This record gives sequence, structure tokens and C-alpha cells, in this order.
Amino acid sequence: MKRKRFIVMTSDEKTSRSGKVYSKRIQRLRRLIVATVIASCLIPTCICIILSIKYDRLHSSYEQSRTDLNWYRDKYGTEMEILAREAEEKAEAEKIASAEVENEESVSMDVDYANVEVSGAQNPEDIEGTRYVYLTFDDGPSSNTNEILDILAEYDVKATFFVCGKPDARYTDVYKRIVDEGHTLGMHSYSHKYEVIYDSAVSFKADLDKLRVFLYETTGVWTKYYRFPGGSSNNVSTVDMHELIECLNDGDITFFDWNVSAGDDKSGSNKTTIYNNIVGNVPRFKHCVVLMHDAADKKATVEALPEIIEAIKEMDDTVIYPITDDTLPVQHIK
Ligand SMILES: [Zn+2]
Repeated sequence: MKRKRFIVMTSDEKTSRSGKVYSKRIQRLRRLIVATVIASCLIPTCICIILSIKYDRLHSSYEQSRTDLNWYRDKYGTEMEILAREAEEKAEAEKIASAEVENEESVSMDVDYANVEVSGAQNPEDIEGTRYVYLTFDDGPSSNTNEILDILAEYDVKATFFVCGKPDARYTDVYKRIVDEGHTLGMHSYSHKYEVIYDSAVSFKADLDKLRVFLYETTGVWTKYYRFPGGSSNNVSTVDMHELIECLNDGDITFFDWNVSAGDDKSGSNKTTIYNNIVGNVPRFKHCVVLMHDAADKKATVEALPEIIEAIKEMDDTVIYPITDDTLPVQHIK
């Protein structure tokens, strides 16, 4: 028979055991309290760190976009300003166009382009053979210039741009591109304001110098070619044009008029009339200086350009060149 074992505890032992249990509970409770305290400190700290990192990231991207926006605004202005400027450019182009229509009409009565005295080619030995065609664009740069340059690049054709003074930052690269891609940079007055340019020889010279220096600072090219707004045969000028030609001679500048005109400054002109005016008249000459316009409202010129180039390239013994020092000028007045 098994003997039951009884453990008899003394009252001291009982007290010490319940004390141990009690102290274990206290310890557990203490750990719990410490853990709670630590957690209640750590969690908000972690949240704070995470939030501050996120804030920093957001802040720096905000700063970056603010910098980008400011840069963009500095360069191009606000959207409203861009729209206003485009409208202004269009209005200016229309003003130039209407002034030139008036002028061209008076010019066309005075000058028969077929009888403009020019040699058949740029070198005497070429007179019999090659036809030289010089595509020239007046009034730029404009919102169309890059597209014109793209087309010229596509057909590997070099042209001549008679530009005005447009200090707007968006055109800086356009002036440079004209030069970098091997086209000739010519002058067409800084202001294109007839009342300024043709008021006196002094104001003509001031406008001319302003543009020449501006183009030099923008592109590094000291240009030597000029096209009078309205041509040398304009009858707007209150100054004898020979006096203004003297100003050009003093600066070693040659002026170029034209003997073939796109007619793209005439109201009602469109892709077809522009094409016909050029492609129909080029065969009449061995030496063609073709007048076209590079302006915001002359989209039809850009549209007609690829087919014009293709048609000229298909003509026998015909080359398209940019104006150089070797080019014989077409001049309406001597
Ligand atoms: Zn013009």
C-alpha cells in the first residue's frame, strides 16, 4: 500500500512562496509597464522620423518643381504670357505682311523681275550650264522656323534667312540652329518698322548696327548680307535708297532683292499659289533668288516647301545653294 506523502509547509514557507509568486507578478507587471512606456515613446518617435523623412522628400520635390516652374517662367513666362506673346507675334506678322503687300504691289508695278539684270550664274563659266536657286526666308525667326529647318535638313538643302531682331529667349536656339545647320544668316532690319528704318540714314544705320551686333552676340556670326524690308525698290522710304545702300557699303554689306517671289505675303495665297509662283518662275532664270516668308501666319509656305524643293531638284542642271560671298546679288536698284 502506497503511502501518501504529505508535504507540510510551515507558515514561513507559505509566506515565502506566496511572496515569490507575488514578486513574479510584480516583475511581470513592471516589465509590462516598462515595455508600455518604451513603446509609447518609440512609436511616436518612429512615426515622427517617418513623417519627417516624407516631409523632407515632399518639400524637396516641391522646391524642385518650384525651381523648375520659376526657370520655365523666367524663360517663357506664364501660360497667359505665352499666349499673349503668340497673339502679339501673329499680329506683328500680319502687320508686317500688310505693309509688305502694299509695298510689293507698288514694287511689282515698277519692277519686272524677268528683266532684273543678273548674271546667269555665280561663276561666268557656269552661265551656260547650271541654274542656281537661292531660297531665302524673310521676317524670321518665328514659330515656323524650326519646321522650315527640319524640312531643309530632310532634303539636305541650305537656304538663307534674312532675320529680324527678336531678343526673346525662345528664339536664341533658333538663331543658333540656322547657323549650326549651315544656312546663311542675313539681316532684314532689327525692328522691321518702316517708319523707323526709312526715316533717316541715321535711324537706318542705328537699326542696322543693333541687329548686326545682336546677331553676333547670339550666334557669333558677323553677317554681311542684307535684305531691305520691302526691297530696295520700295517707295515707302523717305530717304534716297542710294544713301542707305551707302551705309551698307560702308559696313561691307551686300544687299539682295529677289527675282522670284512666293507671293506668300499676298492675301488669298495658299499652298498651291505659292508652289506655282516659285516652280513656274524658276525656269525663267539661270540665277534665282526666291523670296519666301518665315512668319507665324505663313503656314502655307511651310506646307508648300517640300514639294517646291522636290520640283526644283528635278529641274535639269539645277542646284539649290545658300547665299555666300560668291553669289551674284539680285538687286532691284543699282
Ligand atoms: Zn519683311
